[in-house]
Amino acid sequence: MSRFTLSRRIQALPPYLFAELDRKKQEVRARGMDIIDLGVGDPDHPTPGFIVNRMKREAAVPANHQYPSYEGLPEFRAAAAKWYGERFGVSLDPANEVVALIGSKEGIAHFPLAFVNPGDVVLVPDPGYPVYHIATMFSGGKSHFMPLKRENGFLPQLDRIPARVLAKAKILFINYPNNPTSAVADRSFYRKVLAFAEEHDLVVAHDVAYTEIYFDGVKPMSILELPGSKKRCIEFHSLSKTYNMTGWRIGFAVGNPELVGGLGKVKTNVDSGVFQAIQCAGIAALESGEEAADAIRKTYQERRDVLLPGLRSLGLDPVTPRATFYVWIPVPKGYTSSSFCEHLLTRAGIVTTPGNGFGASGEGYIRMALTKEKGRIREAIERIRKIGF
Ligand SMILES: *Cc1c(COP(=O)(O)O)cnc(C)c1O
Repeated sequence: MSRFTLSRRIQALPPYLFAELDRKKQEVRARGMDIIDLGVGDPDHPTPGFIVNRMKREAAVPANHQYPSYEGLPEFRAAAAKWYGERFGVSLDPANEVVALIGSKEGIAHFPLAFVNPGDVVLVPDPGYPVYHIATMFSGGKSHFMPLKRENGFLPQLDRIPARVLAKAKILFINYPNNPTSAVADRSFYRKVLAFAEEHDLVVAHDVAYTEIYFDGVKPMSILELPGSKKRCIEFHSLSKTYNMTGWRIGFAVGNPELVGGLGKVKTNVDSGVFQAIQCAGIAALESGEEAADAIRKTYQERRDVLLPGLRSLGLDPVTPRATFYVWIPVPKGYTSSSFCEHLLTRAGIVTTPGNGFGASGEGYIRMALTKEKGRIREAIERIRKIGF
């Protein structure tokens, strides 16, 4: 032990499962092999021009060079509330039911700090976005993992959660449309979640980063559409995926004013809000971004419609995404998540993500992202055909 020994909370971080794969990726690249990276969930197209232009203008305005207000510009919060009204029919008070975030990851990571005490339990989907578990750990809480299984439509079986766990549980994290499984939840699931949360006095924290990346014209819903949901729900929304803005770091949380306020208290003490010029660009996106979002959805849907039949022609059995830009694929017989990823990488130069990186229940799957052009996706399919498995 020295002064430089990492804190117990950092030491307790889950092992980084991709280190070996990262090393192999370097090796494959060094061999001069052409790599098709379907690993990262980061849009490959640029942010729409009108958003960039708004940012350019606002960056030159001196008032934007000062500290922003912690909770977000009133105009940004009003734009977010208006967007929620138009998209979901949910009415929100911009004054106390909306807070701007430095990307929704920031809000999700800080939220448990506001409500979780050491010993409290947080219900976390498995597989899932790793931040729910890590934020729980950082706040001294304990994650209880809820397996998401194909036979249940990748929805958690709430009635399987033991009573002794529920007695200590405080927050229920859900995420639909879901990363990594691409599953979408319907109204009856949200009704069940809300009734369950009422029964066990839970807070529902819903990660809705992908509500706008939907296919076939079927729009996913917000849990806040349900009557009474504002009593115990908060939703984390993001401009990242909807408008190709992952690098900008802007999102927002909405819902119950005490939950939004608690998150705001943490933020007031650790960050100083979002650069105002970015908030102004965010307003432009929320007010005038529908056409751009439509084009983005169309791009991913076209890619999905190349990748899915391609994978099936290889004898694989992928889940058909109705939303998100991910494809969740069971590995063939004789492989694990890691060994199949390694096979695709070292033999075909195709980068994918092993499902166990999202939790123990992700074992037996890999994830491909639809973040490459159709031609590259076709090429990936042909390479897999050639190497076999
Ligand atoms: C991308 C992503 C986010 C976070 O996006 P931000 O860029 O931080 O807004 C949140 N949740 C899930 C499941 C994601 O995939």
